[in-house]
Amino acid sequence: MKVIAVSGGVISGLGKGITTSSLGRLLKARGIPVTIIKIDPYLNVDAGTMNPYQHGEVFVLDDGTEADLDLGNYERFLGQSLVGTHNLTTGKIYRSVIEKERRGDFLGNTVQIIPHVTGEIKRAIREVAQAAGAEVALVEVGGTVGDIESMPFLEALRELSYELGEGHMAFVHTTLVPVVGPVGEAKTKPTQHSVRELRAIGIRPTMIVARGPAPLSPDIKAKISLFCDVPPEAVISVPDQPTIYEVPLLLEAQGVGQHLTKLLGLPDRVPDYTAWKEFLATYRKGEGHVEVAVVGKYTELRDAYLSHIEAFHHVQGRLGATIHLQWYDADDLPRNPGALARLRRSDAILVPGGFGSRGVEGKAIAIQIARDQPIPFLGVCYGFQMAAVEFARHALNLAQANTTEVDPHTPDPVVCLLEEQKGVAGLGGTMRLGAQRVLLTPGSRISEVYGRTEIWERHRHRYEINPAYLDRFREHGLQVSGRSPDGRVEVLELPDHPFFLGVQFHPEFLSRPEAPHPLYLELVRSALARKEVPAAVASPPAVT
Ligand code: GLN
Repeated sequence: MKVIAVSGGVISGLGKGITTSSLGRLLKARGIPVTIIKIDPYLNVDAGTMNPYQHGEVFVLDDGTEADLDLGNYERFLGQSLVGTHNLTTGKIYRSVIEKERRGDFLGNTVQIIPHVTGEIKRAIREVAQAAGAEVALVEVGGTVGDIESMPFLEALRELSYELGEGHMAFVHTTLVPVVGPVGEAKTKPTQHSVRELRAIGIRPTMIVARGPAPLSPDIKAKISLFCDVPPEAVISVPDQPTIYEVPLLLEAQGVGQHLTKLLGLPDRVPDYTAWKEFLATYRKGEGHVEVAVVGKYTELRDAYLSHIEAFHHVQGRLGATIHLQWYDADDLPRNPGALARLRRSDAILVPGGFGSRGVEGKAIAIQIARDQPIPFLGVCYGFQMAAVEFARHALNLAQANTTEVDPHTPDPVVCLLEEQKGVAGLGGTMRLGAQRVLLTPGSRISEVYGRTEIWERHRHRYEINPAYLDRFREHGLQVSGRSPDGRVEVLELPDHPFFLGVQFHPEFLSRPEAPHPLYLELVRSALARKEVPAAVASPPAVT
């Protein structure tokens, strides 16, 4: 087994996840089986109970794990699906060590961070790499070097490097090279300090990835090389890019692929980027543009909607039209006439998922606008549930209709708690989660969009559409066009609308640069088609 550990210095949020994903892509492009593991040194067992404002979106895996959003980047860059064991947290590691202690596995011993916790970390990394059949496992350590939380993980990686032996492990350190002062001078001191910090715990980086606003000059590269004890060809400059999908090629252009394969004794085949380059070429075309409104309650932190954003990038890379996302704070929308007027002019509307009461009325208004105008609409999870609520209120005239998540005493509970959720007490990992089969109605819009009548999509919800209202929905034109094998409503659509689809699942998690998700693709296609047809021609006179 070969391992590439990726650490971060100076500040968090440098794009370590993108660096790690891109390194994975470099190896994969050479036909080397790779996998990626994310270490999150927090005490939460998983990301499921965390507010999106703290860590961004919760990314759901096929097996139902609620994971860190970096797992989404890994899946998108590698074009591979991962499972929950690929997201190690302090919570998971400690839980397993404590369970072993209670079982008596360490009988007679004092259980300590070293060797027991570090041993558990190494065991987990080895097992995951083996189960994935990977020749190279990339391990990204969350946080920055020097944090107390990440110490056991870095120590475990140091031990692992010793155990694997020379030429089996590389340490890539991602740091910030800020540009300061009136003449825009690039500063290497923070990098020097963070490398010193790494060295103090016995890790010598084999490669430095320098992030910053501009490319590093040869002088600065030489300086980092000298101070940090890495060869100049292993000092890599990753300035900000127009799209993250440029990063693998940027690394490739600086010889990172060759350098790493040499370092780890791997075959350096000619990398294949055919599809990736096609994606980028189309992405840059800028043939037409659409404005897509996203109406959610976490809009101040875009990372809360990362997979949706990426799904639209993937569509741009397929269609060549520039997609501008416009963010609407669902909480503010009902009181903001200017925003409402702008929303009415958007080319498409997406209402993503969410939880709780805040912002739901804004979502309902946005859906009503999409239905009335009509504007192509995609409702995801809570956005789908609110589409049912909005329809009940305004098409069925049930003014008090609601989800019981917001109003437990509504006379018209159009959306209600899933039966199996009724006895559930804890909040961690207890929703209806992960990949579930969905059967689509033949001839429906959604089955056309997918080109299939059976799909698997990832879920994360506690509530569902109340079947008691379905007959009335149908009579008024809202159709159920997808169900789970046990009959739950998974898809609602308005056949008399250019594009109005609500889905209980989360399509955003399955979109990939080389395989954009059909729902996002069709939403944007409908928006483009609507723009091309002038209003006067939109409804041709009936042929007599
Ligand atoms: N809050 C809703 C539910 O629990 C929707 C969840 C979501 O959007 N992910 O069912």
